[in-house]
Amino acid sequence: MTVREDLQLGLLSFAPWHMGKQGVALRLPTQNIDPETFPRETLGRIIRSLFSLMYSKPGGIGLAANMAGLLVNVTVMDTGNGEPIVMLNPRIESLSEKQISMTEANLCLPGLSGAVKRSENVTVSFQTPSGIWHTREFDGMDARVILHEISTLKGEMFSDLLPTSKHKYRSVLAQTKSSMKKSFAINLDDLSLGAEMHFFNAVTVSPALLQRKETVLRRAAEPVDFGTWSPHDIQRLAAEMFWLQHQLEGVGIAAPQVGFSIKLAVIDNLRDAPLVLINPEIVEYSDAVEVSNEGCLSLPWYRGPVTRSKEVNVTYYTLDGEPTELHASGYLARIIQHEVDHLSGILYADRLEQPDLLEAIDPDTLAARATSTIWPDEGTA
Ligand code: ZN
Repeated sequence: MTVREDLQLGLLSFAPWHMGKQGVALRLPTQNIDPETFPRETLGRIIRSLFSLMYSKPGGIGLAANMAGLLVNVTVMDTGNGEPIVMLNPRIESLSEKQISMTEANLCLPGLSGAVKRSENVTVSFQTPSGIWHTREFDGMDARVILHEISTLKGEMFSDLLPTSKHKYRSVLAQTKSSMKKSFAINLDDLSLGAEMHFFNAVTVSPALLQRKETVLRRAAEPVDFGTWSPHDIQRLAAEMFWLQHQLEGVGIAAPQVGFSIKLAVIDNLRDAPLVLINPEIVEYSDAVEVSNEGCLSLPWYRGPVTRSKEVNVTYYTLDGEPTELHASGYLARIIQHEVDHLSGILYADRLEQPDLLEAIDPDTLAARATSTIWPDEGTA
C-alpha cells in the first residue's frame, strides 16, 4: 500500500448559490451502512479518511461522509475533549426544548457562517464500527456538532436555517483580493483574473473504494433540467469547472466530480477548442479502437490502459441551449468517452482488461521503482 492510498476522499466545496440547485451531492439521499456485511477493511479506510479530511482543515470538528461525496450515514467528530467519535447510522432520539443560538459553518461551504438555533441537549442512538448500538446524551459543543452533522447527512445544510439576509459570506477570491490589496497594494482585478470563481475540490476515491457504489461518482447523473438551471447559472458552473480542471491540470471534468449529479462535462485539452457538453450522448462509436493510458482527477496518482473507439459522434446541448452534434477523433474522442462515462457512474478503471492493470503513479511508488531498477539491493524499502 502506498502513502497516497490513505488520501482517498476529497471534500466537496460549494458556493451558497449552488445550494438551491439541481443535483447537489449534499442533497442526495444517504444510505445506512450495515457493519455486519460492509467490508471491515473498507469501512476502516472510510473512517480514517473522514478523520484525515476533518483534521486537515483548521477548525474542522465534525464531518459527515456525504461532504466527501460518499452517500452513507457515517459521521466523525472531535470537538477537542479528547474523545473522537464515529457514528454509523445515527438517529436522534430526543431533543431538549431549550434552544440556543450559535454561529455555525460547514467545510463544504467555505466562507459562509451564520447563527443557527438548535436544541441545547440531544440524545442520539448510533452504531459503532463493530456494530454495537449506543444511546448517549450530548450537550454543549458536542450536541451542536452532532445535530449539525446528522442534518447534513439528511441533506439539510445549516445555511437552510439562515434567513438569506443573514448569510455572512466571504468568497475565497474576494478575501484574497482584499488581503492582497491591503497587504501588498496589489489589485487582482488588474491582473485580469476575470469573473469571480468558486474554489472547488474534486471528489476522489482510491482503488480500495473503487468498487463501492455509495459514492456520488457511481450514480447515473440526471439530465440537466433547463427549467431549474438558467443559462447564466450553467455558464457560471461551467466556468468554475474549467477553473478547477485547469487548476488540477486535467483535460476535462464531469459535474459528478465536483458534486453535481447532473449530465454536464467540460473539456479543454489545450489542443482542440474547449467544449461544454450538456446532456451529451455518444450516438456513434467507430469500430476501430486504440489502447492508451488514462488517468482521472477522481482517482489521483493512478493510471491504466483503456481501449476506446478512435472516433465518436456525440450529441449534446451547447451553453446556449442549442442541440448540436460533433464528430471527434483521437485524443478528443477519448476524453469525450471518458467524461460521458462519468455521467453514467462509470470510471475508466472499470474498463481495464484486468484490475491489476491499474498502476500507481504516485511519486513515492515511482521513485521506489526507479531506485530499485537502477540499484536493486538498496532501492527496495
Ligand atoms: Zn475522470
